[in-house]
Amino acid sequence: PSTPDPTGRRLTQPAAFTPELARRDVPILHRTVNGKPLVWLDNGATTQKPRQVIEAVSGFYGAGNSNIHRGAHTMAREATEAYEGGRAAVARFLGAASPDEIVFTRGTTEAINLVAQSWGRAHLGPGDDVLVPELEHHSNIVPWQMVAKETRARVVPVPLRPDGQIDLDAYADRLSMRTRLVALSQASNVLGTVPPVKEMTALAHRYRAKVLVDGAQAVAHFPVDVRDLDADFYVFSGHKLFAPTGIGALYAKPEVLEAMAPWQGGGNMIESVSFDRTVYAPVPHRLEAGTGHIAGVVGLLAAINWLSGFDRDAVAAYETDLLAYAQQALATVPGLDLIGSAADRIAVLTFTLAGHDPARIADWLDRDGIAVRAGHHCAQPALAHYGLTSAARASLALYNTPEEVDQLVASLQRLQRSA
Ligand code: PLP
Repeated sequence: PSTPDPTGRRLTQPAAFTPELARRDVPILHRTVNGKPLVWLDNGATTQKPRQVIEAVSGFYGAGNSNIHRGAHTMAREATEAYEGGRAAVARFLGAASPDEIVFTRGTTEAINLVAQSWGRAHLGPGDDVLVPELEHHSNIVPWQMVAKETRARVVPVPLRPDGQIDLDAYADRLSMRTRLVALSQASNVLGTVPPVKEMTALAHRYRAKVLVDGAQAVAHFPVDVRDLDADFYVFSGHKLFAPTGIGALYAKPEVLEAMAPWQGGGNMIESVSFDRTVYAPVPHRLEAGTGHIAGVVGLLAAINWLSGFDRDAVAAYETDLLAYAQQALATVPGLDLIGSAADRIAVLTFTLAGHDPARIADWLDRDGIAVRAGHHCAQPALAHYGLTSAARASLALYNTPEEVDQLVASLQRLQRSA
């Protein structure tokens, strides 16, 4: 992998990719669980951290800890440079034009709530529509319901096709001059579906609607270019990108961000304060009240550098192959039903197993050291589309291997035989 300079620029070409190269960097993948080597297939919930991220965070607390911006000393300057270097790295990672287009948040959920509370309150009114595919995570549904209730706007669901792709005819039907916003995921956490976001965005723009893209499940799997998508807003969480929890980001087009009022008040977001008149700081700082997660940004920068050190296209191609392998392998398990079969998708495998409650499946696999998630995956409408309230989910990342898929399949076959 390439050597990053302190501002996050790559100094050399990215290295070719193999999962072994990635695994070597991630210490937790070498632990055991219940006496078995860990097989981490819960990447949709959170990803594991490379030592580069762990060392960057501990290095910050061990040698660099300071608050930022307001300090008049060396360490405050260093921390400020690290924080703003992280912002520049996020901008480059997303293909944004400037670091000023990036607002740090606690994660995807907070970024969506920020947009709902700041942009939404100002731009939604009675009779306006927010279009939300049935595919969405609850964090891309509930904030819109909350602001719609306040503004008397409507949240309009966009139905899915049987394969779990968004029904594009229904989408086109539901768009109108009343549509103010389309809020959709670039990759689904429950079905893995990757919708045609660029085309859907272009269509929304014909109605002068804004588009918010939830990149929580996308960023770790394929390169993102917000300007190519022409997204008005793009949000993601660091912890699903090999970075710490508690840090994420919102990208917004400069003209949109410029017009956004603060949603929280406090330090760091002001130019001057008096009891007569408070003047807010320019964006993005106006939208970041209080002390940010400085160590989180340091970790996020390290994670972006780590991932960018690999050839991203090679990573995406490997994951596509691994997905095809997993689909075929899982099909050999008697009674196993894979949910969702859209052609464009990331390596998320949600399934039911005849005769077994999803919670029991997860428990059985756990005894073999295999971590999967069971439940509604915070996407109840998407599961309801299949008449389900719960399912098991294996979600893969670049460091997973065909051997790990084999272990999953073997364990599920044993479960079926034991029944
Ligand atoms: N959106 C999608 C598609 C997700 O998968 C998730 C988390 O699972 C979220 C939003 C919420 O992310 P967070 O809990 O990190 O804010």
